[in-house]
Amino acid sequence: MTGTIGILGGGQLARMLAQAGKPMGLEFVFLDPAKDACAAEYGEHICAAWDDEVALQKLGQQSDVVTFDFENVPEASASLIESLCPVYPPPRALYKSQDRLREKSMMQDLGIPVAPFCAVSSRPDLKAAVEQIGLPCVLKTRRFGYDGKGQAVLRFEEDLERVWQSLGDSGLICEGFVPFDAECSIIAARGIDGSTVFWPLTRNLHRDGVLAISVAPFFDAGLQARAENLVQSLLDHLDYTGVLALELFLKDGELLANEFAPRVHNSGHWSIDGAQTSQFENHLRAICGLPLGDPSHTSYSLMFNLLGEMPSGAQQQVSSPQSPPDVHWHDYRKTARAGRKIGHVTVTDKTETGLRAAAAQLAARLGVSAELNLEAVMQDGRAR
Ligand code: AMP
Repeated sequence: MTGTIGILGGGQLARMLAQAGKPMGLEFVFLDPAKDACAAEYGEHICAAWDDEVALQKLGQQSDVVTFDFENVPEASASLIESLCPVYPPPRALYKSQDRLREKSMMQDLGIPVAPFCAVSSRPDLKAAVEQIGLPCVLKTRRFGYDGKGQAVLRFEEDLERVWQSLGDSGLICEGFVPFDAECSIIAARGIDGSTVFWPLTRNLHRDGVLAISVAPFFDAGLQARAENLVQSLLDHLDYTGVLALELFLKDGELLANEFAPRVHNSGHWSIDGAQTSQFENHLRAICGLPLGDPSHTSYSLMFNLLGEMPSGAQQQVSSPQSPPDVHWHDYRKTARAGRKIGHVTVTDKTETGLRAAAAQLAARLGVSAELNLEAVMQDGRAR
């Protein structure tokens, strides 16, 4: 296969797409305003603003197909490129996912269960929303929220004023608080011909709103089938091409959708080391019109996000031939900064019991056993 993939965005997702695509014979060009975009080592980097029309045209002219690695690319930029070459996933999916109100309304219209919600654009709206939805509830900015930013939980009447002061300037959405038993996500890839494959449901743990751990596979066939139905209705409605991740809450055996990402997703990183075909390869296969690869798992996997800086010694292990075959370090080569996603590590094992032991070893190795007890996490699903 030859061809050039244009990517709006040059972060770690673009980097891992390129790592999957290079062995397939693909070339890459990235548009990203960041001078130090970490994907740049795998192709040409057009360093320009998201709405720079000359740069967008250059990207469109140089590419056979364009995709994106984050959802806040202006829809107009994706549409401009669409006049020059195909853009997948469809810009309409971007448009829907960029605004939590549009996104939730669409899911509700499709019959996908979601927590109760309503729009808030003034202080009286907020009071009415809290009366309608009840406490506790979650107030979120409709746009540009990520990793738990731009949202706050309201537990008591007294929280209203403080939360309004911190978020009240922009369009907001108020949602019922879901006291979930677990969080999970279903990742699917849909080809240009409409064929669809699903990875196993992945159990996710967040700390301070940021994904900390993903474990896969985790759930039974019944839940898997229900999650597949939910994501299939989204994919078909959007006439989608590429990988999409649907984030879900599990409560009393029922699934409620939280949000979807029209792109490869952090909770699918385990698939690089633990599945027949990774989410990255299948995203590329989908947007290039190639048959999709088998998403089944080859082992039990646990992915741990590395935030801030790579742990000491990890770098040697990335390249060391002595490093254990079931510990897979991924360094995004980003400058260390507190809280920044700079890499991840996935441990894999043929059995679930073996995975627990491997996870405990990793926790000790990373010095996070006390802070984040992986064994306990896998038993009861809660980050300590
Ligand atoms: P989000 O930015 O919507 O993905 O939210 C980040 C995290 O906040 C989620 O993964 C949940 O852990 C938590 N969260 C978001 N919305 C709710 C909700 N309505 N009820 C309970 N927890 C939530």
